[in-house]
Amino acid sequence: MKSMDKTLTELCGNDIRYCSYEEVYMALLSLVQKESEKRAVPATGRKLYYISAEFLIGKLLSNNLINLGLYDDVKACLEFHGKSMAQLEETEPEPSLGNGGLGRLAACFLDSIATLNLPGDGIGLRYHCGLFHQNFTDRLQDETPDFWLGGHDWARKTDITYPVSLAGRDYTARLYKIAVTGYEGRTNYLNLFDLDTVDQSIIGKGIQFDKQEIDKNLTLFLYPDDSDDDGRLLRIYQQYLMVSAGAQLILDECTRRGSDLHDLYDYAAIQINDTHPSMVIPELIRLLCEKGIDFEEAVEIVTRTCAYTNHTILAEALEKWPRHYLDKVVPQLTPIIEKLDAVAASRTNDSSTAIIDSNNIVHMAHMDIHFTHSTNGVAALHTEILKDSELNHFYKLYPEKFNNKTNGITFRRWLLKCNPELTQLIENLIGTGFRKDASQLEKLADFTEDRKVLKQLASIKYDNKLALAEWLKNTQGIYVNPSAMFAIQSKRLHEYKRQQLNLLYLIHQYFEIKAGRLPQTPLTAIFGAKAAPAYTIAKDIIHALLVLSTVISLDPEVSEWLQIVFIENYNVTAAEKMIPACDLSEQISLASKEASGTGNMKFMLNGALTLGTMDGANVEIADAVGDDNIYIFGQSSKQVIHRYAQGDYCACDWYEGDPNIRRAVDFLTSEEMLFHGSQEHLTRLKNELIRKDWFQTLPDFNAYVVRKNQALADYAENPIDWTRRSLINISKAGFFSSDRTIQEYNRDIWHLG
Ligand SMILES: *Cc1c(COP(=O)(O)O)cnc(C)c1O
Repeated sequence: MKSMDKTLTELCGNDIRYCSYEEVYMALLSLVQKESEKRAVPATGRKLYYISAEFLIGKLLSNNLINLGLYDDVKACLEFHGKSMAQLEETEPEPSLGNGGLGRLAACFLDSIATLNLPGDGIGLRYHCGLFHQNFTDRLQDETPDFWLGGHDWARKTDITYPVSLAGRDYTARLYKIAVTGYEGRTNYLNLFDLDTVDQSIIGKGIQFDKQEIDKNLTLFLYPDDSDDDGRLLRIYQQYLMVSAGAQLILDECTRRGSDLHDLYDYAAIQINDTHPSMVIPELIRLLCEKGIDFEEAVEIVTRTCAYTNHTILAEALEKWPRHYLDKVVPQLTPIIEKLDAVAASRTNDSSTAIIDSNNIVHMAHMDIHFTHSTNGVAALHTEILKDSELNHFYKLYPEKFNNKTNGITFRRWLLKCNPELTQLIENLIGTGFRKDASQLEKLADFTEDRKVLKQLASIKYDNKLALAEWLKNTQGIYVNPSAMFAIQSKRLHEYKRQQLNLLYLIHQYFEIKAGRLPQTPLTAIFGAKAAPAYTIAKDIIHALLVLSTVISLDPEVSEWLQIVFIENYNVTAAEKMIPACDLSEQISLASKEASGTGNMKFMLNGALTLGTMDGANVEIADAVGDDNIYIFGQSSKQVIHRYAQGDYCACDWYEGDPNIRRAVDFLTSEEMLFHGSQEHLTRLKNELIRKDWFQTLPDFNAYVVRKNQALADYAENPIDWTRRSLINISKAGFFSSDRTIQEYNRDIWHLG
C-alpha cells in the first residue's frame, strides 16, 4: 500500500485527496499501461491472430488492475484518501465495440489467451462510436451516438500505417494498440485500425450521417444501419479496411520473425470470427501472389493458416453479397474469389456449396469452409445442427474440418470483478485455485448441505439485489422490491430470443392476479436489450414491454405482485451489475436458433437458476447441473426443425384454439395498453404474432407459464433449497470458463508457440 501510495501520488502530481476522479483515472491509466508493457513478451513459434469485427471489451481499468494483481492495493490506497473505486469506475467510458455475444466472446477469448500465456492478438476496427446509446422516449427506443474516445482511452496511437485500396482509391489505415493483460499472465494486444480522416462532425440527427463520404465516415460506427444499399456497401468498405490492414500486419510480423511466407502457417494461425472478416482469405492470397508465390501454393498456405468459426444458422445472418458490390469496392479481390469458386467447383458437383451462385451472389461462409482447415460451431447442439442440416453438404465434403468448441466466459470479469462478495466466499471455502483452474469450483459441491454456507450465499445474493436496486434508483429513478424474485432476460432484442414470449407471460400473470389467483411471491421481471435501429418488430416488442410496465405500475392490485423493469442501454457495464443480482436466468430462445449463448453461463456462474429451452449451451448446462437444478421447457430442436421442414405452422390455430393465448395477445391492443402506447406499434406486433410468429412463440406459451410458475413457487416455498441448487449451479460452472474453450482451440486448431 505504501509504495502504491507513493507511485500514485507521483503520477497524480499532487495529494490524491485533492485530485479529481478524472486525474486519478488518468494516473492509473498510465500506471496500468506501464505495468502491462512490462509483461509483453516477443512471440515465438506460431502466433494467433483473432480477426473480428467486434470486441465488446467493456471497461478496462478494474479488470486490468485485477489481472495485474494491483486491484486490492489501489482500492485500499484510494479509500485511504477518501475516494471510492466504484465512483472512479464511473469516470471511464465503456468502449462498446460490439453488438452482443459474438463481440463479448472475442473479448473473453483475448483475456484467456493472455492468461494462458499464449501468443495471440486481436485484429479489429477502432469505431469512433461503438454501438449506439439507447434511451427510452415516450416508451420507444431512440438512438444517439455513443462517443467513447475522449482522449483518455486505452488505445495507443502508433506510427504504423498500411495502404488500403477501396473502390480504386488509396487510403491509409493507422494502427492503434490496446494492451490485453492476462490474469497473472502475459500481455498481448488488440490491434485496431482507423483512418486519420474520419470526422465525427458529419453525424447529423440521432445516428444519421452521409454514407457516401468514405474517408470521413468509414469507422464512425459499428455496423451502420444496413437497410439500404449505401449502408450495405459501407459494411464491405469497413470489412476490407480491417482485413487488408490486418493481413499486411500479419505478413509484416511473420516476415520480421523469419518467415519466408512459404511457411506462413509455422508463424501464424488466423481465426476468422464469423463471416465479417472472410475477405482476409482472398486478400492474403492476393498479397502472397504479389510477393511471387503462385496461386495454387498461396491457396494451400492460406487454407492451412486460417480457421473459421460459425455463429449462426439464421439464414439472414449469413453474409451474402451481390457480386457487383464487391466489383465496386474491392475489384482487386473479385478475380481471386472467382478463381476460388472454380477451385471449389472442381472438388464437387454439388452447386449448393458454390461461392458465387447462379444469381451472382457471393456466399462468404462458403468461401470460409472451402478455404480454411477448420470450421467450428460454438456449442455441441449447434455443431450437430450444422453437420446434420444447415451445412450438411459441406460436412459430407469435408467431415474432417468440422469440430465443436463450446463457448466460454472469462471468470476474471464475470466473477472476480463483478461479484467480489461471492468471490470471497468461494475463496474462504476452496481457496484461490479456481481463479486459473475453473474446474476447482466442483469442490463447492462439498458444501451443498452446509446451512451456514447456504445462508451466506443467500445473503450475498440479497446484497447484490440491493446494490442493483440502488443503481436503478440512481440511474433511472426506478424503485424495486429486493425481496421479489428477480428474473432477468438481458441480451440483444431479437425475435428468435423471444422477449415476446416473456411479454405474453407477463400479460397472462396480470390477468391471473386481477382474477385473484395470486403467485406465491412477487416477481420483478428485468429486461436489458437494444434493438437494431432498422428492426421494426424488435422495437415494437420494447414498446409493448415499456407500456405494459406502466399499465402494471399504475394498478395497485397488480403492482404489489408484479413489476417490469426495462434497463436502458444494456452493455457490459450494466451486465456486470445485473447478473450478480439475478435469481432466475431467462434463456428462452426457440430451440435450434441460439447457437450457444454466453449470458446463460454468466448467470449460472453467479448463482442464478436457468429457465430455458433445450437450445445452445443450455443443453450443456442442463447436462452439467441435472434436471432438478434447472427449469427446462418447450419444444425440442428436432421438433422445431421438423415443423419448419413441414412448413405447416400456423400461429392463428394456436391463437384461436387457446383462450389464454388469445387473451394475452388481444391485450396488446386493449384500451389499457393503448392509453399509454402507440396504436401503430402495438397493432403491428399483435398482427405479427397472430399471422406469422416465425419463431413459434405460441406453441411454447403454456409450457413456459407452467415452468416459470413452478420456479416462482419453489423459490417462495423453499428458499434454502433454492440456494442449495444455486450453489450446485456455481459448482458446475467451471466447464464454461473461456480458459477451457481456448485450451481446446489451441489443442485442436491453433497449436500455438
Ligand atoms: C454476454 C453478453 C451478451 C450475450 O448475451 P446472450 O444472452 O448470450 O445473447 C450480450 N451483451 C452483453 C453486454 C453481454 O455481456
